[in-house]
Amino acid sequence: MTKRIFSGAQPTGNLHIGNYLGALKNWVALQHEYESFFCIVNLHALTVNNDPKQLLERTRDLVRFYVAVGIDPEVSTIFIQSDVPEHAELTWVLNCVARVGELERMTQYKDKAKKQQENVNVGIFEYPVLMASDILLYQTDLVPVGHDQKQHLELTRDLAIRFNRDFGETFRIPDAFIPKVGARIMSLSDPSKKMSKSDDDAGSRILMMDDADAVRRKFKRAVTDSGTEIRFDESRPAIYNLLEIYHLMTGKSQQEVEEHFAGKGYAQLKGDLAEATIEFLSPIQQRVKEITDEELDALLERGRAKASNIASATLANVYQRIGIARAPSRA
Ligand code: ATP
Ligand code: MG
Repeated sequence: MTKRIFSGAQPTGNLHIGNYLGALKNWVALQHEYESFFCIVNLHALTVNNDPKQLLERTRDLVRFYVAVGIDPEVSTIFIQSDVPEHAELTWVLNCVARVGELERMTQYKDKAKKQQENVNVGIFEYPVLMASDILLYQTDLVPVGHDQKQHLELTRDLAIRFNRDFGETFRIPDAFIPKVGARIMSLSDPSKKMSKSDDDAGSRILMMDDADAVRRKFKRAVTDSGTEIRFDESRPAIYNLLEIYHLMTGKSQQEVEEHFAGKGYAQLKGDLAEATIEFLSPIQQRVKEITDEELDALLERGRAKASNIASATLANVYQRIGIARAPSRA
């Protein structure tokens, strides 16, 4: 049986190069080897302060980006999470499998709760259970994600193993796929934090949609470390991050990158990095604009139908195992 991939991104903001280098790039690379499901996880996005009109727009924009970066809708299944109600339904079942204590240990929950103290909703706490449902519904083998999702993947595996032990073999146990390079692109304004869509400082991230001026400005303002030498040195995280982005954008090896910058200064590094990024983003930005609403609707409907088929079969099996009959009208 062909092995399956599942992954997703939240429409919480515009995609940045960290999302691409840590996750979407690998989705594109792996889609021909695996049967692939790529979701726009809009239910997850409800956990942050929500502007309904913006959420709808961002959801559709994200689909455009999936296609523009190279996910082929003829090969992979692209769909919107809320179009497949089984995600929410399985979450309730897994809520009754997950333990409060294990969710309390999730670092993303702790970070996000601290960041939005006025809105510590139950959804942020629950987030990893919904994510486990996303993955387990598709009997997923591999989940290509950035490093920040490692802990959530471990929880997903724990929940699946526990469910299988208590109710019989039901879920395939997924593995995380976290790339060796690019899994943790750091903020340009604070290299101790990962680059994030939801960071309050817009200068901290390069958006996939940023124009040339914005890219140049943001790299120019990026913080650097003391010292002058330009090489991959983990004790100097700001420069390391800029070099890693350059290495990934250009495809040059780390050694070639160090040779390229030997004897040069930070201004040159930032300038060259900006130009390489602009060159990389430009064709993607062009493709985003070319996708029509009709194409979008058609691929999403195909995606919904394909995803629904698999998700409903898994959920029916789960309901049977736990002693809940599925309503005939929904079958
Ligand atoms: P938010 O701040 O709203 O959580 P985000 O930038 O973390 O947004 P997500 O939609 O949560 O983006 O994550 C989408 C994918 O991008 C996930 O696989 C995640 O691991 C990956 N990712 C997110 N940020 C980075 C980063 N800085 N470096 C590498 N991968 C990342
Ligand atoms: Mg995130």
